[in-house]
Amino acid sequence: MQKYIDSYDFSGKKAIVRVDFNVPLDENFNITDDTRIRAAMPTLKKVLAGGGSVIIMSHLGRPKKVDPKFSLKHIVAHVSECLGVPVAFAEDCQKADAEVAALKSGEALLLENLRFYAEEEGKPRGLAEDASEEEKQAAKAAVKESQKAFVAKLASYADCYINDAFGTAHRAHASTALIAKYFPEDKMFGYLMEGEIKAIDNVLKNARRPFTAIIGGSKVSSKLAVLKNLVGKVDNLIIGGGMGYTFIKAQGGSIGNSLHEDELIPDALEILAEAKAKGVNISLSVETRVADDFSNDANTQLVPSHEIPEGWEGVDAGPKSLENWKKIIMDSKTILWNGPVGVFEMPAFAKGTLQIAQDLAEATENGSYTLVGGGDSVAAVTRMGYADKVSYVSTGGGAMLEAIEGKVLPGIAAIQE
Ligand code: AMP
Repeated sequence: MQKYIDSYDFSGKKAIVRVDFNVPLDENFNITDDTRIRAAMPTLKKVLAGGGSVIIMSHLGRPKKVDPKFSLKHIVAHVSECLGVPVAFAEDCQKADAEVAALKSGEALLLENLRFYAEEEGKPRGLAEDASEEEKQAAKAAVKESQKAFVAKLASYADCYINDAFGTAHRAHASTALIAKYFPEDKMFGYLMEGEIKAIDNVLKNARRPFTAIIGGSKVSSKLAVLKNLVGKVDNLIIGGGMGYTFIKAQGGSIGNSLHEDELIPDALEILAEAKAKGVNISLSVETRVADDFSNDANTQLVPSHEIPEGWEGVDAGPKSLENWKKIIMDSKTILWNGPVGVFEMPAFAKGTLQIAQDLAEATENGSYTLVGGGDSVAAVTRMGYADKVSYVSTGGGAMLEAIEGKVLPGIAAIQE
């Protein structure tokens, strides 16, 4: 049964806490962005303040074996600084008995990168490229078997389990989901997870209407499930960025050299038809900034989105599109934004995306609920200095996408069930 961190008595207890400390490091192993570390602090500090101790576990990068480049030792000093207590380090997450035994109330221990072990993800490693299907299945079964002992070992360190790693909540890994069953009465979400779950519920379950979703990014294929789920829930669906051109082409528009996926035209038509049947307003870009080259100093012009000349490609939303979208945003009580409406990485094509960030900040000030998720949209609000001017900025790109696809996330289910 799920417990709540606020009412749990941590006194004298050891809490094993899954956090997402998968932070970017430079070539000298300096942390270049510690947002994820800071995001987990309220939970860790809560346990320590309540008289407990914390055993912190995380992954870092995608190592396929023990690799010092991906060691969490690089971040110990910074975690300690943020937490305000010394942080001990266990060099092997499976051999930390001595360090765990030495932990006293108010103390913290960080375990080495969980992904040094294949058992964390439960996926076989080192298979020969020409391995037969049979060999693949056998390797998979073997790692699933050895995963049981891996999970049991981690669980043996602690009295209770906290999941505060939203970024990996969509993965059924050892530390994000499987471990929870060892703590049937003592498992809970950390504050970060709780915040993310509430934010998702605010848009998917309890949206105040009108409810608008703004979905952008490069391809329809990567967000097809999102679009299909949202079209049954929203009042307005703004589709921008590269993925918009598949829809415009599906409607018979000329899109020049713009990014598009012909094979998804039937899906685009299906979404448009479903929206029409349900009375959902789909708003596509009406005016596009087009470029004659995919580079920041390309020649550009503004053209109607359905009449993009050959040799030109859509790279940003034009002012008329942004004006339409602003009206919709200002009339909405709940707004979900995922994905840029242009090639945001190039300053010359970032205007549209930055404008959406600004509109969301304004809508929030007017009392609307705004949720921003996905790396680029989060970068846009942060760059504009609006991160604390929207209602919620999600920390988990992939996890947030799966949640808005309507999927049950294993990391969430493992605590709730
Ligand atoms: P996603 O990862 O699907 O959210 O897509 C993000 C990417 O979409 C960013 O790298 C943007 O540069 C890209 N993008 C947005 N609009 C366009 C466009 N009109 N043409 C090409 N790429 C785009």
